Amino acid sequence: MCFGVIEIAVLFKGEDMNVVGKCPNCGGKVVESKFFYGCQNWRKEDGACPFKLQKTLAQKKISPLDMREILEQGESKKLQGFKSKKGEFFSAALKLVKMERYWFLKFLP
Ligand SMILES: [Zn+2]
Repeated sequence: MCFGVIEIAVLFKGEDMNVVGKCPNCGGKVVESKFFYGCQNWRKEDGACPFKLQKTLAQKKISPLDMREILEQGESKKLQGFKSKKGEFFSAALKLVKMERYWFLKFLP
């Protein structure tokens, strides 16, 4: 069995970026990039949508599946593996919150 390489190549081919869900700001597509999940309409000619979230929070990478849930429900289920500044692991749900024009993920205990 050796089909892994081809699948990976398809996943990383520029235009066909991994769509994780619908943008809560403009209804556009939220795609996965190297460090962010962000709206595809970020360019000025596309409406300059500011929706963008960092992929890594408290040293844990948010998976595309978790991000999809956050985009659909406004928050995730309880996720494990976050690490505090003191170096302690903790689990928390993530809630999508908007402040001014920007979005953040907030930890829910
Ligand atoms: Zn958008």
